[in-house]
Amino acid sequence: MIKSHPSEQLLVGYVAGELTPAMLMVVGTHVDMCPHCQQQVQDIEEQLAQKVMQNSSRVSSQLSIAEADAMLERIFNSQQGIQQPVAHEVNNLISLDGKRFTLPPTLARNSRHIGEWQHMVSHLWRAPVQVDEEQPLNLIYMSEGAQVPEHTHKGQEATVVINGVFHDEFDEYRDGDFILLDGHHKHTPATQAEDCLTLATLDAPMQFTSGISRLLNPFSSLFFR
Ligand SMILES: [Zn+2]
Repeated sequence: MIKSHPSEQLLVGYVAGELTPAMLMVVGTHVDMCPHCQQQVQDIEEQLAQKVMQNSSRVSSQLSIAEADAMLERIFNSQQGIQQPVAHEVNNLISLDGKRFTLPPTLARNSRHIGEWQHMVSHLWRAPVQVDEEQPLNLIYMSEGAQVPEHTHKGQEATVVINGVFHDEFDEYRDGDFILLDGHHKHTPATQAEDCLTLATLDAPMQFTSGISRLLNPFSSLFFR
């Protein structure tokens, strides 16, 4: 059962297409996995549609037929240059470390953007998902017994669990859980007996905070790219 969801503000941004591409992927992957947020998204879509209808009926009552025709023609002409989307291969399975994972639809549709897996340190692997030129988005795989040194963030870190379980000082997170942390939170993500595949985005490099792991700050650039 999913217990950790995006805020309503993020869901509105998701529906309105106002999030960064990386954040859109993380929130979208959560929505793929969360019936509760699917319902929320549907409600928000209906509310937004009603607003658009109200605005357009107000506009149309002020337009003469000739003006409306001219407007339609402009809209029609302006769309002639828009290219049809190209069909891409959709791959909903990835394998790593001898295991196979099923990707939720948002990720599966973007599977062509998933780069090569790279081994970072002992129990951590990462594969970039290249959808956003400015904000890195990564699949992060933690095998059993992994620990990321305690760190905080200059910006925001948004994570969704795709498969498995990890925990930090605050809670335990399972399939579908969405976690948003900022510079006010320090945390030490870790796995125990089970592995974990997550999708995560950072909008600024992470900062390692405790003892010896301060020495690892260059390591944060491994995540932030
Ligand atoms: Zn949810």
